[in-house]
Amino acid sequence: MTELPVQQIMSVHLPGVDGLCVGCRWWWARLVPYPCYQAEWATRWRARVATRRFLDGLP
Ligand SMILES: [Zn+2]
Repeated sequence: MTELPVQQIMSVHLPGVDGLCVGCRWWWARLVPYPCYQAEWATRWRARVATRRFLDGLP
């Protein structure tokens, strides 16, 4: 998995004014409370990469 699809997911799966995920409704016409599975997955993925980069930068 590269970073580009993760960024696309994070840019689409955003909280709507009613607390539901905008991306899930737009893509699949599904009413899912935010954060949805995709948003949580992308957030975890970003956190994992950031942690790895931080650890790699240590002496
Ligand atoms: Zn979503």
